[in-house]
Amino acid sequence: MPNEIRKDYILDRWVIIASERAKRPTDYSGRPSERTEAKTCPFCPGNERKTPPAVLLYLPSDGGIKRAKDSDGERVKNWLVRCIPNLYPALSPRNSISLVEDDLHRRSDGVGAHEVLIESPNHDEHPSNGRLEQIELVVQAYLDRLKGLSKWEYVSIFRNHGKEAGASLSHAHSQIMATPMVPERISDELAACRSWLEKKDACPYCEIIEAERSSPRFIFENESFIAFAPWASVYPFEFWLLPKKHQHTLLQLDERGKRDFSRALRMCFGSLATILNDPPYSYGFHIAPTRGQHECFHWHLEVYPKLSIQAGFENSTGMFINVTPPEVAAQSLRESLPRI
Ligand SMILES: [Zn+2]
Ligand SMILES: [Zn+2]
Ligand SMILES: [Zn+2]
Repeated sequence: MPNEIRKDYILDRWVIIASERAKRPTDYSGRPSERTEAKTCPFCPGNERKTPPAVLLYLPSDGGIKRAKDSDGERVKNWLVRCIPNLYPALSPRNSISLVEDDLHRRSDGVGAHEVLIESPNHDEHPSNGRLEQIELVVQAYLDRLKGLSKWEYVSIFRNHGKEAGASLSHAHSQIMATPMVPERISDELAACRSWLEKKDACPYCEIIEAERSSPRFIFENESFIAFAPWASVYPFEFWLLPKKHQHTLLQLDERGKRDFSRALRMCFGSLATILNDPPYSYGFHIAPTRGQHECFHWHLEVYPKLSIQAGFENSTGMFINVTPPEVAAQSLRESLPRI
């Protein structure tokens, strides 16, 4: 069965039914141990043949980088960053899209893109311990793929770290999914930004930044970015990173902004790894949808450490219990920022 996207009977909530992913051997049983040996890791240099041809490669060139791609029969070596189609995509590029069935059963074909961004040739070079110049390349690659996939309605860039957070391979990587509709969380945030703008003639996130800068939830700032634990943190040690200037998409980052963002990532994830012994976590960017006028949106990165288990109450109500107050989380994150 091909992948499809189904809408809830009555809610504006879409679910990817990833039948094509069901063949993925490691999914429910017989997971390999998290610490994949470099010899067998398909993302480590030398094993490029175990993966599909790269859609984007950064190669070293005169102290800078050069962009390249693999061809079908050949895999380029000596890369710094490598972006490949997911071997087991939840969404795949096809052309047709149909919204059919009846009022209760709405669906569309599972079209879109699902890519893996291998962040470094070094198996263990993560945002928590990586070299700044390497993290800057990862940020640049996010921008390039966001641009490259802009024919889709929405591009989600996210990272799962650690087996408990859903990473089936431990090599440093992010994922990118392009979807044929705007996901509910994004359209909810966008609608909230619009109505705030209409009522108060301001961006709520710009106001949040001003308020949290001097609050007990503040964690870190540099010239272009701020990090804080949100007021109603859903997860213990959740934090958000926002550009201080109003920007609706990552694509508005200038060179200084990219550097400051990379540094903010390195600082915050360094601290998180120190205080919680490299915990599993996920992060995801919230950016404006690719089509239409969404300048009222303010892009940000949301980070969700995976320290608690969602169960009956959370799953059945959409309401959460967080046992670590954001003020407590922010204080430890603030006090353990690395010196770099
Ligand atoms: Zn590896
Ligand atoms: Zn704003
Ligand atoms: Zn958000």
